[in-house]
Amino acid sequence: MNQPSNCYRCGVRCRVADTSNAEARLLRHATEPHGLCVNCGATQWLKENVGEVIANQRCRKCDKHRESYGRRGCACSEPDFPGIDDILRLEHIQKTFAQLMAVGKSDAKPDEIDWLEVIANWELPFPDETKPTQGQGELFS
Ligand SMILES: [Zn+2]
Ligand SMILES: [Zn+2]
Repeated sequence: MNQPSNCYRCGVRCRVADTSNAEARLLRHATEPHGLCVNCGATQWLKENVGEVIANQRCRKCDKHRESYGRRGCACSEPDFPGIDDILRLEHIQKTFAQLMAVGKSDAKPDEIDWLEVIANWELPFPDETKPTQGQGELFS
């Protein structure tokens, strides 16, 4: 019988895993009743590692980036940048993340991630005072 707990970011009910892989470099199971659900764990990793890339999209009108270092970025009066939902719904983005999970010996399986939840909660803040150490997204199963 696994101990129940709640994700400290979105509050979803989770169960604490029995085991965790010490070698997992992302999405490692928490074995204490404190951590993130798998969707928030994935969000944390994405924000910490590729947040800037995700934020600096190409304008669909002029094909220039929001910000270009050394070059002129988008100057459209009404820019058309893809939203987080457009980006995270892309199959190649989800496949790349699944590969990262495999390489990083993640405790989670790629199909455990609900990308619609990740998108829906993208702007939800991470409460600082309870942030896991080492920038590691701990999660419940
Ligand atoms: Zn959560
Ligand atoms: Zn533009």
